[in-house]
Amino acid sequence: MSKLQPVRGTRDLFGEDAERFAHVVATFERLARAYGFRGVDTPIFEFTELFARGIGETTDIVSKEMYTFEDRGGESLTLRPEFTAGLCRAYLSNGWQQLSPLKLAAHGPVFRYERPQKGRYRQFHQIDAEIMGVAEPQADIELLALAAHLLDELGLAGKVQLEINTLGDTPSRLAWREALVGYFGRHEAALSEDSKTRLHKNPMRILDSKDEGDRALVADAPLLDRFLSAEAGAFFETVLKGLESVGVPYVVQPRLVRGLDYYCHTAFEFTTTHLGAQGTVLAGGRYDGLIEQLGGPATPAIGWAGGIERLGMLVDLPAAPRGPITVVPMGEASQLAAVGLTARLRRAGFVVEQAFRGNLKKRLSRASDMGAPAVLILGEDELARGEVILKDLATGAQQAVALDQVETALAVYRD
Ligand code: ATP
Ligand code: MG
Repeated sequence: MSKLQPVRGTRDLFGEDAERFAHVVATFERLARAYGFRGVDTPIFEFTELFARGIGETTDIVSKEMYTFEDRGGESLTLRPEFTAGLCRAYLSNGWQQLSPLKLAAHGPVFRYERPQKGRYRQFHQIDAEIMGVAEPQADIELLALAAHLLDELGLAGKVQLEINTLGDTPSRLAWREALVGYFGRHEAALSEDSKTRLHKNPMRILDSKDEGDRALVADAPLLDRFLSAEAGAFFETVLKGLESVGVPYVVQPRLVRGLDYYCHTAFEFTTTHLGAQGTVLAGGRYDGLIEQLGGPATPAIGWAGGIERLGMLVDLPAAPRGPITVVPMGEASQLAAVGLTARLRRAGFVVEQAFRGNLKKRLSRASDMGAPAVLILGEDELARGEVILKDLATGAQQAVALDQVETALAVYRD
């Protein structure tokens, strides 16, 4: 450890960054509640095996981004690189099948060993929404409506675009998979080492490769739509019609695939051109096969995750809230009275601060720096009469108020 540096790819959140972060989370929690989602918290570490199975061995996340360690009992544990696998594990561990259909909302830290840059960290944070136990396309529509509504409320409607695709159902995917193996097999020599491994294990992963040579091949790879079954096509149509009905604009992006395994049907990303290379702010899709893959009953599900840091960088912060009403004691004798009055007003629900340093001018300027709408000046003469002076900082108007009437006089400054 040199000096007292934070670990590479981690950040301390304070000041405006912290406010942006809190604004994203608060907006998400408010809307998730309005849409009937229930808050959930799961541990930030799980058995490594869960992520290996739940995300897929051939994904970038599992093959090179996980923070995996052995604990003192010799268990291999991993800091969660995403929410979905842990939420599915919790669904099975706790028998939440009984509650199905279940709408879950979570947020918190996520860990991936990546090359840090703007909008890309090793500890970052996600908001996450999942609907478990619903096979109907209405779940896809509702989940996308929540995402679009959230982005609207954050003021990002003009800055992001919804790109959407279908990954089909099992018969569509099997036919497509065969075509991909055929196509990439013919170009195997030109594939990256990672993608050579993917070719037989999970050829769809190649479509999501970030390697430039792979990307050139991917541009001409066969698309799913040629192999799409009538049922899966109809499902996708319903989702798109639903989005139109809700008023959510979208662009169908036939080359969009998701970085995780077990996705089917709907896959989507909200992207922006305002963040340089880190263009995806929120992404997700349907993962009907995952819960079964983890050893549970076949359970359709769909979800998305949004990066809080990336969303926070894009939002316009709402106007700063009003600062605290400030109690200003003048002289030794009023110090104790100020402490008592401050405590009394806070318990009555007012936002209150004290300014007890320097001369009167300093104290008043500190109050106005903090955005105080008003100050209560406690002079010794006034206190002797059982009064304080209430000064409105916007108008400069000043009046004497009986000590036991302060709450009433301050009512106009309540939010
Ligand atoms: P990318 O293509 O940028 O690596 P991803 O496909 O790995 O993204 P997801 O796994 O879909 O991302 O995670 C959902 C969201 O989490 C992303 O859309 C993004 O906003 C955010 N995110 C992902 N990785 C990071 C990171 N390292 N730092 C900050 N935010 C991230
Ligand atoms: Mg990534």
